[in-house]
Amino acid sequence: MRTKAKSLLAWLLILSLATGIAVLRIRTREQENLLADLRREKQELESLRLANEGFELVQVQTNELLRLRAENAALPGLRHEIRQLRAQEKQPQAASIMLRAAPEWRENQQLRRENERLRNQQVQAACIRNLEQIDLAKRQWAAENKLEGGSLMMLDDLANYFPGGVTPVCPAGGHYSINRIGSPPACSLNGHSIP
Ligand SMILES: [Zn+2]
Repeated sequence: MRTKAKSLLAWLLILSLATGIAVLRIRTREQENLLADLRREKQELESLRLANEGFELVQVQTNELLRLRAENAALPGLRHEIRQLRAQEKQPQAASIMLRAAPEWRENQQLRRENERLRNQQVQAACIRNLEQIDLAKRQWAAENKLEGGSLMMLDDLANYFPGGVTPVCPAGGHYSINRIGSPPACSLNGHSIP
């Protein structure tokens, strides 16, 4: 009887150890997966940053804005992935702490901020070029029509002065005020103004 109890106890011990090992393995695999996700995200962020940096060197023309938008079309997908990663992080507390300690996590945060900053810079620069183009068109129109400073005008009046007849629009969705002759045109967004 005692021998039976002993062997039962031994089996129970083995069973609980095996369970413990299995749980540990699952946790490790979960954390490995999360790290792999982070590394993949980092690669994507880095290539995006490279694209952004390369882009800064190129003189962006107003009619290239559509191309700019297409290039940034990858961003929503990336954001979705980041959101997914964040949701995953919230699940196992231990994994979350481990993830935050991982250098990849910090690096990705930094890359994210850097990309955001570069993108804002691009958008701002593109908008300012638009405003300068509108300003130039205004001057040409005023000269041709012998208009004096303070005269009112419409953005539609300038259509022929823009490349391809396309009226520039703010890439960030700001609203343009063309303003009177002699005053620079303005965008409703902060930082989007001719220096
Ligand atoms: Zn703008």
